[in-house]
Amino acid sequence: MTIIKNDTEVLKNYINGKWVDAISKETLDVPNPATGELIAKVPISSRDDVDQAVSAANEAFHTWKKTPVPKRARILYKYHYLLNENHEKLAQLVVQENGKSYKEAYGEVQRGIECVEFAAGAPTLMMGETLSNIAEDIDSEMFRYPLGVVGGITPFNFPMMVPLWMFPLAIACGNTFVLKPSERTPVLANELVELFSQAGAPKGVLNIVHGAHDVVNGLLEHQDVKAISFVGSQPVAKYVYERAASQGKRVQALSGAKNHHIVMPDADMSKAVANIISSAYGSAGQRCMACSAVVVVGDGESFVKALKEKADELIIGNGMNDEVLLTPVIRDSHRKKVLEYIEKGVEEGASLIRDGRKEMDEMTEGTFLGATIFDHVTPEMTIAKDEIFAPVLSLLRAEDLDEGLEFIRKSRYGNGATIYTKDAKAIRQFREEADAGMLGINVGVPATMAFFPFSGWKDSFYGDLHVNGKDGVNFFTRKKMITSRFDY
Ligand code: NAD
Repeated sequence: MTIIKNDTEVLKNYINGKWVDAISKETLDVPNPATGELIAKVPISSRDDVDQAVSAANEAFHTWKKTPVPKRARILYKYHYLLNENHEKLAQLVVQENGKSYKEAYGEVQRGIECVEFAAGAPTLMMGETLSNIAEDIDSEMFRYPLGVVGGITPFNFPMMVPLWMFPLAIACGNTFVLKPSERTPVLANELVELFSQAGAPKGVLNIVHGAHDVVNGLLEHQDVKAISFVGSQPVAKYVYERAASQGKRVQALSGAKNHHIVMPDADMSKAVANIISSAYGSAGQRCMACSAVVVVGDGESFVKALKEKADELIIGNGMNDEVLLTPVIRDSHRKKVLEYIEKGVEEGASLIRDGRKEMDEMTEGTFLGATIFDHVTPEMTIAKDEIFAPVLSLLRAEDLDEGLEFIRKSRYGNGATIYTKDAKAIRQFREEADAGMLGINVGVPATMAFFPFSGWKDSFYGDLHVNGKDGVNFFTRKKMITSRFDY
């Protein structure tokens, strides 16, 4: 198995236990964002490719759903072993195709492995419920069953973790799966599927179809696909949610974010600065839990000065270099949109206290952008409202915690929010009133682990049941109720 690609090979789809060429001959280049070097070519598959994969998954479902749950779980134990064995190689591949630092990539692989650990608990997680004597001589039992074929559509920013949010649990619950990875980071996905087949997954249980819109629409509209798990940007999440739901499918669609960090006057300033720098600029700000807006409560001048000094010290470059924190954004087309946001921020009157465009001009290869900070941003400005998904941080000034919480309430997004303080009363008020699904108390990236739901609110999530935890089990199973009389 080749882990690090270094050629212009066209990736294959994996259908019914075999690596196959896409029917469509259209391809897209996959460059390394730090160097521009071509890593691979990804096929832009057609609906015919989707139909083949769904048909294989549907066929496999008939036997997979009857495979005893502990036997299904044992494949995940083996998979867990193989992922651990390949931890470093998988992390290198994340760096190569996504551009993030090796340390972050290593952590991402770990987060993915934890999802497999959780899913391996399927025999316990899938247990039903019973109640004897609901009426005289009558008992009630609830059993869980899989849904059928599930489609998974994933973004570029977590090529390891996000697919593993989806298919291990779905498959452990007895479903079969068709994965459509991001066309910008498709290489690692093939390694994940290869290792899953080495772990003993029968043919057709996990399939992969590379591509873009046509593959997504093919999954959304296929009558044999019973559920869609999606993670990506807000407009696409809403589209996927509406389109799949209109076809009668179960959908969870995780979407964009604008995560506010409130810095109270009593906070430990050096720790708050360190957390915010790492949250805002790690992975070049391309994390759905990245800090993108800081609410500075009170005077805050010393905090702002310290933040800017730390941003000035950031080392920018290739993620394989240990000292680097600031890595490239995914593509030049994305960087162009970010540059438009920077111009918009200036036009709308925010103060650009650190301009990352100067580092961009210094880097001759790769899609880099230096750490950018706007101060005196107001909630009405475009840069305060939109997800920019880049190393661009907005500082908003607030009189007190109430005003800071009001900024969070006004945001259309509600993925995460953090407060930095030692004040128990402020912490409690923040916990009760912050209008977001994942909160941090003195924590820079309050992303939840696999046994809890990844719980975005408002326009950060469309659906009901979130990924991971018991929500994930409920999403991937349907319930059957048995009512029995015994005095017959
Ligand atoms: P994206 O929306 O561009 O792409 C996500 C997936 O949707 C890809 O597989 C892509 O091929 C497909 N897609 C894109 N446009 C489409 C269209 N018009 N029709 C059909 N399919 C389409 O997202 P991205 O840029 O790859 O990822 C970054 C986004 O994902 C950010 O907005 C980020 O906040 C979000 N994200 C959210 C979470 C979360 O948990 N809420 C986690 C990770 C990423």
